[in-house]
Amino acid sequence: MKSKTLRVVLGDQLNEKHSWWKDDPSTYIVLMVESLSETNYVWHHIQKVVAFFLAMRHFAEKLEKKGIEVIYLKLNDDRNKQNFSDNIREILKVSSFDKWAYLLPDEYRLDKELKELSAELDLPFEVADTEHFLSERGDLSKHFKGKKTFMMESFYRMMRKKYDILMDGDEPVRGHWNFDKENRKSLPKDVKIPAPKVFSRKVQEIVDMLEKKQVKTIGRIDPDCFIWPVTREENLQMLDFFANELLDNFGNYQDAMKKGEWSLYHARISFGMNVKLIGPLEVIQKVEERWRINSKNVPLAAVEGFIRQILGWREYMRGVYWAKMPDYAELNFFGHSRKLPSWFWTGETKMQCLSQAINQSLDYAYAHHIQRLMITGNFALLAGIDPDEVDAWYLGIYIDAIEWVEITNTRGMSQYADGGLVGTKPYVSSANYIDKMSDYCSGCHYDKKKKVGDKACPFNSLYWNFYDRHRDKLEDNPRIGFVYPTLNKMKGDDRAELIEQAGKYLGDLDGL
Ligand code: FAD
Ligand code: SF4
Repeated sequence: MKSKTLRVVLGDQLNEKHSWWKDDPSTYIVLMVESLSETNYVWHHIQKVVAFFLAMRHFAEKLEKKGIEVIYLKLNDDRNKQNFSDNIREILKVSSFDKWAYLLPDEYRLDKELKELSAELDLPFEVADTEHFLSERGDLSKHFKGKKTFMMESFYRMMRKKYDILMDGDEPVRGHWNFDKENRKSLPKDVKIPAPKVFSRKVQEIVDMLEKKQVKTIGRIDPDCFIWPVTREENLQMLDFFANELLDNFGNYQDAMKKGEWSLYHARISFGMNVKLIGPLEVIQKVEERWRINSKNVPLAAVEGFIRQILGWREYMRGVYWAKMPDYAELNFFGHSRKLPSWFWTGETKMQCLSQAINQSLDYAYAHHIQRLMITGNFALLAGIDPDEVDAWYLGIYIDAIEWVEITNTRGMSQYADGGLVGTKPYVSSANYIDKMSDYCSGCHYDKKKKVGDKACPFNSLYWNFYDRHRDKLEDNPRIGFVYPTLNKMKGDDRAELIEQAGKYLGDLDGL
């Protein structure tokens, strides 16, 4: 009799191209589990849970079509023990396997759980790579060995050379590594933005199942029209749509925001990539190829800007995660401790920028990068919210949120809770920046120009208050520039009025 292996596949390991699937299917059985331990460790957006379960079910069907046997435990399956370890223990107890195997988890929590299980079980096991990322877990630590700060740009250039992306021999194409100066414009008034590409699926059955199992979720869903791509083919269609319809304007309007426009020129492929339905290299190559065959018309600044997000930021954040976990999850450089205001879960705030960013997050489980960084994240940092609260919100609400990429972006880039490992300065702004990059301020209850008094925009006083209260930690940061000289020049009364105004707002965040 042939020996049999139990191969465990987690919900974010849906890589159809993995070498495992080339092995003789009679030598292994796959185990996939929808479990309460995953739906309940944080309050997830309902669309996020539905997207994961749909993607997993389609993936399992694909494997079965290839002749691979899959034990798939739905959330409401009576056999389901509702966490990975208990399910694996049970299957190994009732069926006869000579070995079990799993793919390297991307989350520290699951990595630890499966390591502990391997040590406990009296059965040979194997751990395989997910064959998805372009760097190994430890590559970033090696690259920055002995350094206090990890400069993303240095890592990115190393990766460009390693994978020969946008290179001309040993040099970057057209002589520059970075074209950011040409990017990041605000949107012209008359611009025609292509309608977002969406799909349509009926998902009532999963919604009912979640309700029956009393899974507490956040956000909204239309069970008759689920819009997210959940198969490899659909994600490849999203990528084509991006490359053909959106890429040319991606760089220009990467940081722009507009009322009612929820995805602008962004690709919306983060879910597909994070669950590994599509791989980073095929995404990068597709975009580079579009530029190589049409370099006169496709702006290099857009292509380079997009590739930097994936080859640079995405791989870099994963490297930071594995270099710094588990301590990273405890970092709180500023010692912030406030609770998130209740309107983060309802969108019911008079601040138009926050209402737009939060309501679209509740509607679609999505906000683009600058909304996450410079609207919700900016507010949370200025208001001194506990990074644990901020992390839990981001980890729950976004369809693409998996801890390795969520925590490094939220706690690191957005909340500066790591004291400057990921970002060289805190990403905060007053109303000025928000007004420059969006049309949110027009028609807002608050007045973008006012710093104090009735209807003064909260971002203005909170901004100065933030720098004032963290002077000891930030004054020597050379990247902060004009802030402290301006604060120092401010008349005593003006400063006091600003601090008082901020104090009023901080005393009643729920009322904003
Ligand atoms: P596009 O703007 O079209 O960019 C293309 C791709 O580049 C993305 O799909 C993503 O894979 C990658 N990318 C871009 N920026 C980053 C970044 N900073 N870090 C890593 N990859 C990046 N991304 C997640 O995938 N999951 C998260 O949980 C997540 N949480 C975030 C929290 C905060 C506070 C911030 C500021 C950013 C977060 N990001 C996260 C990064 C980024 O906002 C999303 O990757 C992006 O908005 C996804 O949408 P898109 O596919 O349309 O991206
Ligand atoms: Fe946001 Fe202030 Fe502008 Fe209103 S005025 S949209 S609160 S930045």
